[in-house]
Amino acid sequence: MRTAVTALLVLFALAVAIPYPKRPTEGNWRLLQFSDEHVEWIPEGAVEEAADLIQAESKTLSIPKFSNQISKEASAALTARLFGKSQLGVGFIDRTLHYESGASSFESFDAPTPDYPTPDPSSHAAATNLFDKVKPSNLKKTVVDLSTLVTRFYLSSISKKGPAYLTAQLNSIIGKAKAKDVVIKQVANKGFDQNNVVAIVPAAADKKSGDDIVIVGGHLDSTTGGDPEARAPGADDDASGSAIVLETFRLLVESGWRGSRDVHFMFFAAEEGGLLGSSTVAKKYKADGVEVRAMLQMEMCGYQKGDPVITVLSDPNPKLSTWLSTLVDTYLPNVTARRSTCGYGCSDHNSFDDVGYPSACISEAGPYDSGLNPNMHTTGDVASILNFDAAAVFVRAGLAWVVELAQ
Ligand SMILES: [Zn+2]
Repeated sequence: MRTAVTALLVLFALAVAIPYPKRPTEGNWRLLQFSDEHVEWIPEGAVEEAADLIQAESKTLSIPKFSNQISKEASAALTARLFGKSQLGVGFIDRTLHYESGASSFESFDAPTPDYPTPDPSSHAAATNLFDKVKPSNLKKTVVDLSTLVTRFYLSSISKKGPAYLTAQLNSIIGKAKAKDVVIKQVANKGFDQNNVVAIVPAAADKKSGDDIVIVGGHLDSTTGGDPEARAPGADDDASGSAIVLETFRLLVESGWRGSRDVHFMFFAAEEGGLLGSSTVAKKYKADGVEVRAMLQMEMCGYQKGDPVITVLSDPNPKLSTWLSTLVDTYLPNVTARRSTCGYGCSDHNSFDDVGYPSACISEAGPYDSGLNPNMHTTGDVASILNFDAAAVFVRAGLAWVVELAQ
């Protein structure tokens, strides 16, 4: 039944082809996608110069040294000043490796999205019983530990430290819970050393109801642009999301919960390089024929000024985002649930959408909202300005997400 339904849905999935321009013949270039309509070859030095301008808090929309080689729109996107505001992620998707694999265009699929059941806390006590057990102190510890590494930038000489730390934490939780069925995998990337980390909580053998999986993720890398070895604490962006995924994992594994579907907890590499790590994972899952029921990204959740706010990004999958808003409203009636839009490849959920998996993202704010952490991508993105009591609501949202979709 499930297979038949899926096949039918895939038949109706609409593909949008995004043609790639030809690579300029001389020099080092990267193929960056800024929107579905805009893909452009950018000199490698321009990305670094843009990062330097951001660091210098320049208000310019152009990248002077390269102004005759790249478009004004690309300049504006790279300097993250298009609307006078910062951006989630880096504002582009790096398609260079895809082009180098011989592709002449990128196919973006409208993800076939199932009808999810109406969220119902009363029949999912496995989630709500854990709400009081969320420990903000755990979130703080993970964020402090990750953000005091000098950097987690994917091209730095210590880029493996972030994945190693998270793997050790996952192993410690599994060991304490004696959860021998839980598996940790590293998913390696082409062209750089930082791995994605994936922890899989398998379905209970006697409850398994489908081969489709449920995903919750955050990105483990950080950036302040420019020098790969420069300090990049990335406490909110996105040690906070990684900490929330880890705490959601801890609570479920320690409680002995197992669902009817496998749940994959993911920590992505190189989001700040243009969604590179998540793109590797999403493409690999697609090539391996993995069915994904829904994927949720936790992106910048800790910068909270008062009562907790959860912002659901409405793109790229309005149907799933609407369901997610209802989930937050139903399970967390005291939380202000907002909607906002990104308009570009805001974070790793976009990599899953690209290959036709339903995906969504929650955050403290959208990229053009006043609630967004102004210290993003600077050395000021540190743990001391985050509110871990407020951020705990994102763990509760994560618990509700996993149990609702994989019970
Ligand atoms: Zn981020």
